[in-house]
Amino acid sequence: MTEATSFDAVVIGAGFSGLYMLHRLRGLGLTARLYEAGGGVGGTWYWNRYPGARCDVESVEYCYSFSEELQQDWDWTERYPSQPEILRYAEHVADRFDLRRDMRFRTRVTRAAYDEAAARWRVETDRGDRVTARFVITAVGCLSDARVPGFPGAESFHGESYHTGRWPHEEVDLAGKRVAVIGTGSSGIQIIPVLAELAAEVTVFQRTPNYTIPAWNRPLRPEYARWVKDNYADIRRTMRDSLFGIAASFNTGSALEVSEQELRDELEARWAHGGPGFLGAFADTPVDPRANELVAEFVREKIRQTVEDPRVAELLSPRDHPIGTKRPCFDTDYYATFNRPNVRLVDVRRTPIEEITAAGPRTAEATYEVDVIVYATGYDALTGALLAIDVTGAGGAALREKWAAGPRTYLGLMTAGFPNLFTITGPGSPSVLSNMFVSIEQHVDWIADCLRHLAESGATVIEPDADAEDAWMRHVGEVAEQTLYPRADSWYLGANIPGKPRVFMPYAGGVGTYRATCDEIAAKGYEGFVMSP
Ligand code: NAP
Repeated sequence: MTEATSFDAVVIGAGFSGLYMLHRLRGLGLTARLYEAGGGVGGTWYWNRYPGARCDVESVEYCYSFSEELQQDWDWTERYPSQPEILRYAEHVADRFDLRRDMRFRTRVTRAAYDEAAARWRVETDRGDRVTARFVITAVGCLSDARVPGFPGAESFHGESYHTGRWPHEEVDLAGKRVAVIGTGSSGIQIIPVLAELAAEVTVFQRTPNYTIPAWNRPLRPEYARWVKDNYADIRRTMRDSLFGIAASFNTGSALEVSEQELRDELEARWAHGGPGFLGAFADTPVDPRANELVAEFVREKIRQTVEDPRVAELLSPRDHPIGTKRPCFDTDYYATFNRPNVRLVDVRRTPIEEITAAGPRTAEATYEVDVIVYATGYDALTGALLAIDVTGAGGAALREKWAAGPRTYLGLMTAGFPNLFTITGPGSPSVLSNMFVSIEQHVDWIADCLRHLAESGATVIEPDADAEDAWMRHVGEVAEQTLYPRADSWYLGANIPGKPRVFMPYAGGVGTYRATCDEIAAKGYEGFVMSP
């Protein structure tokens, strides 16, 4: 039998957005082909196999809600799910809904070109596939384009080097080894305490300290899991209407209007509970620098209480950005790890890494001899994976050109001039500021409804109106300006990638507000979109 080369839709990526999109397309009776660069499903959880990799959204909330049977059948074992468990869940979903038959693994989409005359996309892959589709739906993930800084001499290093987001599938033997970790974002903060247990020595190269809150991971109590399953409808509603897509309670009061004791009591209680709810202690933390500083100083005090060497404690204390303006981190024993005799901290803000020698990283002060270098250096976030594909729209216009000064979308879902191209959790939507599952399901459902609407109305082509897109981009910028987010050099702004335009890319208005906006636009006959037969 010859392989089909013409589909209603091509989906790019078999992470949780691609899996659900494929399921919904099937339900609409549409034909689809899904291409995935990795060797299996799971997206970020397929790649991020580093020791300690774990989600920092609670397991019972970090999962699909679209199937009641699925959410009742699946049992999570820990408060925060580990990477192997999340990967098992992704595989279970792929099998349960029989999704694999439309997927092609180890196949990277290299080009997608819109053919206006045919009103079809021509899609090419690195394995020579040439297919066409009416719709292209990108499910490429926001944090999938792993980046290693271009340190001179990196190839001359005699030991092993790994990026956390491209960790080998086979066991990496770290016992007795000297390990360098470069980077102290979420990945570094998760891997460092585990490496400290496994390796002989761990040298942490820190450029910017981050605030991290204890996760307090633990086995999931069966009675709690039962309670969640019995109350899922309410819990999911709370999550969907919330700011960040999680069920934790967020106070509406100000940190500036409570007594010192009340402030401390609230923060202590949330610290003791752990996890993302800590940042919900006061409503003005994300917007008022004085309120923010009170919360930030509470964390610095915790660092001073935990880390025995005051010099190390001060080095670990963030002072250059408000708390919550970079992606918050949640840890297991991170600060306490620096009390171990086999862990040392190198301040590469003061003395940057100048090169990687055969022996290890070299700063102006010293060469650090190591056996393994772990790059926990992050991603070209939100746009990297999309722009790695050569996408051209109407008139042959390149997406890379259109987004040269920063991504431009309407609702983070589509971009003008690129008809029938949908971007799940695209820039301009809440995506990385939320529990991804909530954002993914909302986007996929919205896209599926839109496709049904097109079919019912006899239209075949949809794209945003350029004015609607401009207005949305202004709105995204204005909302960000009302917050403290722009004050940090974060990957939200592309600040981690040299030369990337400094634009706040996600929508900071919250998933509840955003969902209402998307629903209203659809209810008004897809206001701001242009549809043609
Ligand atoms: P990241 O937050 O971008 O952190 C990268 C780290 O590498 C930063 O500390 C950065 O320092 C450092 N770095 C980059 N270039 C450097 C250089 N040339 N010299 C020295 N240091 C350098 O990346 P990530 O930790 O992989 O996390 C990315 C995102 O993935 C997270 O924010 C989160 O959204 C997600 N994630 C989630 C989880 C979870 O659910 N628990 C786990 C891992 C990742 P600067 O800060 O100075 O740039």
